[in-house]
Amino acid sequence: MQSNQQSDRISDRMEKLLLFFSNGITPESSLDEFRRTPLFNILILLGFTFFLIFGVVTISSGNTLFGIGEIGVATTLFATFILTRNKPVPRWASSTVLLVFYFAFLFLGVTGGPDGNGYLWMYTFPAAAMFLTGPKIGTIWSLSLVAFLFGITSALQGATHVISYDNSHFLRIAGSYTLVVLFTAATDVVLIYSFVKIREIQVRLETTIAELNESREELQQQAIHDGLTGVFNRRFFNQTITTWTIQAQRHHSHTALLMIDVDNFKKYNDRFGHLKGDMVLKTVAETIQGVLRRESDMVFRFGGEEFTVLLTKTTDETTRKITESILHSIRRCNIPHPDSATGTVSVSIGVAEWDPTVESIFTEDFIEIADSAMYDAKMAGRARIIYRSCDLTGDDHRKTTAIVSID
Ligand code: GH3
Ligand code: MG
Ligand code: MG
Repeated sequence: MQSNQQSDRISDRMEKLLLFFSNGITPESSLDEFRRTPLFNILILLGFTFFLIFGVVTISSGNTLFGIGEIGVATTLFATFILTRNKPVPRWASSTVLLVFYFAFLFLGVTGGPDGNGYLWMYTFPAAAMFLTGPKIGTIWSLSLVAFLFGITSALQGATHVISYDNSHFLRIAGSYTLVVLFTAATDVVLIYSFVKIREIQVRLETTIAELNESREELQQQAIHDGLTGVFNRRFFNQTITTWTIQAQRHHSHTALLMIDVDNFKKYNDRFGHLKGDMVLKTVAETIQGVLRRESDMVFRFGGEEFTVLLTKTTDETTRKITESILHSIRRCNIPHPDSATGTVSVSIGVAEWDPTVESIFTEDFIEIADSAMYDAKMAGRARIIYRSCDLTGDDHRKTTAIVSID
């Protein structure tokens, strides 16, 4: 337990450190920026620290000119660090840093630095050059450093503050330095290749994840919608009405359930065929949906040619407006139905109106009241609405409150 916490703390710190050095990289950053930014940040801070310490030590040992030069390098590095913070590192900044290192190492190589062995720092240059400019340009920068170093020292042989390298010394330094350059370039090429591959895999992975999310969403939509009419399906109705009754009870919100059934639909199918019948079901679903304005008012295909509508936070007045609008809108579609009394496709609607402050009911009762109201609307001649309040306490516990017929 304790070691878990400890490792969590360590990885937390590592993450913060990585974030600090990757500052400026965004998911949209280019591969080049990904490569350059962390090394640039590390290099610049290390360089700043070293050159500052060297500068102070050199000045205190009496070598003021060298010391001031080193502090100048430290200051340039720090200024670049501040200027490029929170941004992807621009090319000019990495070139500036590289130039500073280039001339600092050249200077140390030519003069030997305070201890006469300053050229040894040069071996750190290839790694930095490759990372900041890529293996090709980095190799040119690196080899030019050693070439310049020996060119300048040979040309200025004997001058004060200039080291003189004998031939074997020169060959050993140049040989080992060139090997370092070649190894670094090879490692860098492999690194870039892996980086590109990782990015490719990452992109493929992101695409797959996006596709999976899309199909998951599609499946989720399919799972709750009816294939023929596009409105919510029975399965989703069962889930929704249960949560809704609980919510309505909790928030005392007036709720209504409409049970809508197409009249004499069997006869329609018998006369026009099932495909035409399917078109009618689609039109009826669209018409009901078209009447509903709020997102919380939902229409479901309850089964066959039956639909339900759930209205929440409603009033008796709104419920009646919506229900009558559904009845009349379907009538106004004017779909011929010779076997129906009205001559066109019509519906019968049973409405259960529920006020949770008066009565608490079970979901099953709620559905049953709407269903029985719809059945009574059929019995009363179809193409009409019967409203019932959900009153289970009185003798007349399924009380019809209003009947509205189509004409
Ligand atoms: P009522 O006015 O009493 O409701 O009479 P009805 O004929 O509409 O009722 P009934 O229950 O006798 O018949 C319902 C018909 O609905 C039977 C069936 O062929 C039809 N039906 C159910 N689902 C579909 C469907 O997906 N497509 C089509 N075309 N017809 C369907
Ligand atoms: Mg039916
Ligand atoms: Mg019917």
